Amino acid sequence: MSVSIINRRNWNARSPSSSIFTVSWREKTEFIVHHSAGPTSQTVRQIQDYHINGKGWSDIGYNFLVDNDGHVYEGRGWLAVGAQAKNHNRSGIGVCFIGDSNKVTVSLKAKEAIKDLYGEAVRRKGSPLRITGHGLLKDQATSCPGNRLRNWILAGMLSPEPEEDKMELSTRVKVDPFWLDKKQLDRDNYPVEHFLVGGLVETRVYGSQIMEALNNLNKRLDTIEAKLSD
Ligand SMILES: [Zn+2]
Repeated sequence: MSVSIINRRNWNARSPSSSIFTVSWREKTEFIVHHSAGPTSQTVRQIQDYHINGKGWSDIGYNFLVDNDGHVYEGRGWLAVGAQAKNHNRSGIGVCFIGDSNKVTVSLKAKEAIKDLYGEAVRRKGSPLRITGHGLLKDQATSCPGNRLRNWILAGMLSPEPEEDKMELSTRVKVDPFWLDKKQLDRDNYPVEHFLVGGLVETRVYGSQIMEALNNLNKRLDTIEAKLSD
């Protein structure tokens, strides 16, 4: 496993506005996942400019960043003291997903990149680091890294992605918004409520339970449609 990292020169980084301090690998004990909470199209340079000009920091706050295409960007780098999580800037390697995990699905490529980066950290340190998310740390008043990344970390970031996550749903479930009313769904179909965000049918499958629920829902809709056309 190796990870290719886009260095600062290649994303047109500016120089830090003041000195960046570093620590030893012994002090780096945590791998902390963040999200930028902005659009996935935001560039690393834009984030750096915001951190330096807007927040008055020395440099981009994170040690690394990952975009939704799975590219990894060097922020402050492995051993730098970051500006990413209060009381954890020395001990943490802060890795930021560029995007808002409350709003967008984090791509498999991005997840693989984050895992590869973790693997590289372990290789360099010579022992595992604690994996966590920004808001999962004590005394952090933030919802970072958003719902999807938080759930992913809590589910065990390094465990393999469910097979179903890797396939696209070949046919859209036949759902009229009318049938999305909770009362129309029985207990077996409960997980579908999470799947049908805002009445829109997502084309990704999140797990075998969801697949089963969709099949059940389709069967149920067929029955209802058949009854209505009688
Ligand atoms: Zn954060």
